[in-house]
Amino acid sequence: MGGSEEKFVKQAFDSNWIAPLGPLVDGFEQDLADYLGDEVYVAVLSSGTAAVHLGLIILGVKPGDEVICQDLTFSASANPVVYQGATPVFVDSEPDTWNMSPAYLEEAIVDRLRKGKKPKAIVPVHLYGMPAKMDEIRSIAAHYGIPVLEDAAEALGSGIGEQKCGTLGDMGVISFNGNKIITTSGGGALISSSRDIIEQARYLATQAKDAGPHYQHSSIGYNYRLSNVCAGIGRGQMEVLPERLARRRSIFENYVRELGLIEGMSFLHELPGYYSNRWLTTILIDPALSDGVTSTDLRLALERENIESRPIWKPMHLQPIYQNAPYYGNGTGEFLFNSGLCLPSGSSMTDEDLQRVTEVIAAVWKHQPVPVTV
Ligand SMILES: *Cc1c(COP(=O)(O)O)cnc(C)c1O
Repeated sequence: MGGSEEKFVKQAFDSNWIAPLGPLVDGFEQDLADYLGDEVYVAVLSSGTAAVHLGLIILGVKPGDEVICQDLTFSASANPVVYQGATPVFVDSEPDTWNMSPAYLEEAIVDRLRKGKKPKAIVPVHLYGMPAKMDEIRSIAAHYGIPVLEDAAEALGSGIGEQKCGTLGDMGVISFNGNKIITTSGGGALISSSRDIIEQARYLATQAKDAGPHYQHSSIGYNYRLSNVCAGIGRGQMEVLPERLARRRSIFENYVRELGLIEGMSFLHELPGYYSNRWLTTILIDPALSDGVTSTDLRLALERENIESRPIWKPMHLQPIYQNAPYYGNGTGEFLFNSGLCLPSGSSMTDEDLQRVTEVIAAVWKHQPVPVTV
């Protein structure tokens, strides 16, 4: 927590506005809308997963439909497709951003159309905070007339040019889960430039109660709204978001400086105009160049020092739950899964923590001198 979260939560308690809704929910939505840009509307929800689900419902995804999803992602990107009784069609990543490959996206759309089914939506992801190639994805989507639901769960603060992630599709999703760059303990948001869409999301998220004094429902609703208490935490977190971004980015730069000269290890750099929140710093190890050291060797070396690192997300088409889903790609996601590693990247890491991590990693290459900072 940053500091003023307690002040906002106390406001909720003092006013006895606990849930559902309340002035802090409105305030948090406004904070996010102001941060994300002009003409942006936001509905804060109980989770990022709920935001993906409502986005798909609003796009009219129904049983039997197909939705194009990124193959290399966290399962919560794709699971809501199944909640709707629809089928995810997985598209591989490209190596520049680790996100949805525009070439395989187009191949997938053409093939699904040939098989007689037009995908209802495209769900690209900005993995680890790195923006996907949204210009290309959007122009393919526009060409075939398919809406884009952008999973920016990991990418609050990232952007391309002047535009923030979450505002690059027809709708965007952000998560405030405990592991994300800011947290409300659990929560998410649906973002759109259409006020209608966001009003629809708020209606569906509060059990779809029709206007009027009695309980009347003409749609199936959900209990997906964020509580006023959690929104208070969110308002406090928005104040420290710029600091969090700066720290995550400096952690990435520190790793590059300290480890960037190691043969066979590489970092994911930003394309021109791209800005990553560097939610997690990821590396790739090429064992052909790394003296046989693998990403698993590094993970285990860190574990022996009680330092947690994590494998890259396991591609969806390799998951038992999705083994029969269609997949378009050439195994790039699988290569990244096998060769990559997420390094410790929490905003609260101290410089001493960082030094300890880099020393443990560098020591795996015993006969290789540790690069010295100039
Ligand atoms: C965290 C995450 C989600 C889900 O968000 P929750 O708030 O945890 O439900 C969806 N997609 C991606 C890529 C995520 O990392």
